[in-house]
Amino acid sequence: MTINIALVGNPNSGKTTLFNQLTGSHQHVGNWPGVTVEKKTGTYRKDKEVLFTDLPGIYSLSPYSLEELVSRDYLVHERPHVLINVIDASNMERSLYLSTQLADLGIPMVLALNMMDLVEKNGDQINKAKLKEALNCQVVEISALKNRGLDQLIEAAKALAYKPLPRKDLGIFSPQVEAYIQKIEDLLPPSLDESNRWWTALKLFERDEKVLQGLGLDGQVIDQVEAYISQAEEAFDDDSEGIVTDERYNFVSRVREEVLVKGDPGLSLSDRIDRWVTHRVFGLPIFVAIMVMVYRISIDWAEGLPVDLLETYLIDPFSRGLEGVLDSLEVSLALKSLVLDGALAGVAGVLGFLPLIATLFFLISILEDVGYMARIAFILDRVFRRFGLSGKSFIPILIGTGCSVPGIVGTRTIENDKDRRMTITLASMMPCGAKTDIIAMFAGVYGGAFWFAPLWYFGGILAVIISGLILKKTDRFQGDPAPFVMELPDYRVPSMKNVLRATGFRVKAFIVKAGTLILLASMGIWLLENITVAGEFAPFGTGQTDSILAFLGKKVAWLFAPLGFGDWMAAVATVLGLVAKEIVVSTFAVLGQGAGAGNLDGFVASYFTTASMLSFMFYNQFTLPCFAALGAIRQEMADKKWFSFALAYILGFSYTVTFMIYQFARVLVDGQEANLWTGLALLVLGIYLYLIFRKAPHKKTRKGGLSWEMPL
Ligand code: GDP
Ligand code: MG
Repeated sequence: MTINIALVGNPNSGKTTLFNQLTGSHQHVGNWPGVTVEKKTGTYRKDKEVLFTDLPGIYSLSPYSLEELVSRDYLVHERPHVLINVIDASNMERSLYLSTQLADLGIPMVLALNMMDLVEKNGDQINKAKLKEALNCQVVEISALKNRGLDQLIEAAKALAYKPLPRKDLGIFSPQVEAYIQKIEDLLPPSLDESNRWWTALKLFERDEKVLQGLGLDGQVIDQVEAYISQAEEAFDDDSEGIVTDERYNFVSRVREEVLVKGDPGLSLSDRIDRWVTHRVFGLPIFVAIMVMVYRISIDWAEGLPVDLLETYLIDPFSRGLEGVLDSLEVSLALKSLVLDGALAGVAGVLGFLPLIATLFFLISILEDVGYMARIAFILDRVFRRFGLSGKSFIPILIGTGCSVPGIVGTRTIENDKDRRMTITLASMMPCGAKTDIIAMFAGVYGGAFWFAPLWYFGGILAVIISGLILKKTDRFQGDPAPFVMELPDYRVPSMKNVLRATGFRVKAFIVKAGTLILLASMGIWLLENITVAGEFAPFGTGQTDSILAFLGKKVAWLFAPLGFGDWMAAVATVLGLVAKEIVVSTFAVLGQGAGAGNLDGFVASYFTTASMLSFMFYNQFTLPCFAALGAIRQEMADKKWFSFALAYILGFSYTVTFMIYQFARVLVDGQEANLWTGLALLVLGIYLYLIFRKAPHKKTRKGGLSWEMPL
């Protein structure tokens, strides 16, 4: 019989590491809270009958945030056969609260004391027997990272499946509270499953709306329940949820006293490092320096040896070989051009950035695994709270540096609905891996300066902040920033296994994309570029300017003229970038071949001016993300109006900001004369300054007109 086992625990307790070890899968592991926000399922490597579900990390079973709700719904409605409650044993205090709530559920449970390697190093002592007794569950010591104790863990879990678990009063609650819960339980319909009754009664006592609605009790019963609750509240002089929380905390601290003996309480190495890294003054410069380094290394690396190697030993011989094969097959010149100038040029143009992508993801994974990303969120929170923005919003945005999709999904960690929707809207403004290719394409042309690549990263952060400042002053998003409590995990020596796994995963996705989507797009572009509007086939650049592609490009190019790239090629690249941002690069690679340019760098350098290049890059970074990310935005907004709002905001922001960048750069950098457009750009700047610095309108005194309202 199959056994369903759910992995539950606090964020950052090692659930995903454990899940990956058990199932041999490659889920993303990160040394900071909020990395897993959806549940994932996999089968045990050693026994196909055992299924594991990796749930999002939670601190409690109260339905306050989406991930708590996801986990709770899963546990209550799907009722897995066994729970494995993963605990960071090196930091046990904070996990016990959740553990007592899980124990209430009436599902057999094994406590996995994870990170025992750290516990041993710290010299902490944990009394397993007492813990087992206190929570009425099995206790197994493991280290998910070092693959220790996992077999015992699963054996213990399997042994509990399909055995009824009679409820045992653990003494969490005082006899009075127990009695009230008991009375409520007696009111529940007999159809409700035995194992679920007590927990349901407890939730009703806490006035949990979700559970109440799910039951469909009739009015009389509800009144009776409410009467019991009121009695209790009177007796305890506290609201019922407060009573429950209080008694639970007391229980947890009693258990902790009995079970845990802490080792040497001196200032840990992590704390000592943090004194510098999260320092009020030095924290921010250290962060900037680290990110500058990350981008410098990735982009220099890409400009240096590996790309040369890739080109000399792989791409060049491959294209020569392919040419030879095509020649010996005596295929037509057109087919040869399709393969070489279309497919190969486009794919190679993108694949050339493989070393960059691999290095960037490698470095970012190291920062995550060491525990530094959590510090960034912490530092940024301190700075931006002053502007009414919460550091919690930065976590998804930082995750979005790799790819916007997980960043957007990661917004589920934000309880405050306004902040969450705002973050969904802004998360894609960071340069994801694919956008970094575009940056690198230009870095090859212009990027001697050390600030060139990091400019886009910090430009992304700045765009998010500016947008946040503007949006926070509108009625839609007004409100204090949600309190941000985040455990700063201890620094760890990064696990190369995790880092390489995360990097390998991204690299694989990148190669697959190049071999499928980019390949198809490149051939499509080649075709449209070589067939004229008159329907003639005119390959090798002879018909490029009369081609269907040019015709279509010109239809939209005028839109981009105020941004400085109103030419059909840039327009086509920008629009196709919606499919995948790498296509911006491959479009130039294919069109460059068609135009007879020797290499991509040379072609791009002659095509753009400094101002139009800046503008083109910024537009492509800030404007609508690829379809995959748009899909994620729509899914997370789960609302047509909000989705349209996000699209409108992103388009409006990217267009107006790029307009200013181009118009100013045209005068200041390209040395052209100021004209009416410059004046318009100044006006736009004025509007932005007003929106950023105006006083937030007060809801009560505001009477239309003065403040603009969101079109919702
Ligand atoms: P989740 O949020 O519960 O899914 O936690 P993750 O699996 O993402 O792990 C969080 C961090 O803890 C990662 O940096 C892991 O490498 C680390 N980690 C997980 N298990 C262990 C362990 O047994 N020992 C040590 N030292 N680190 C671990
Ligand atoms: Mg996880």
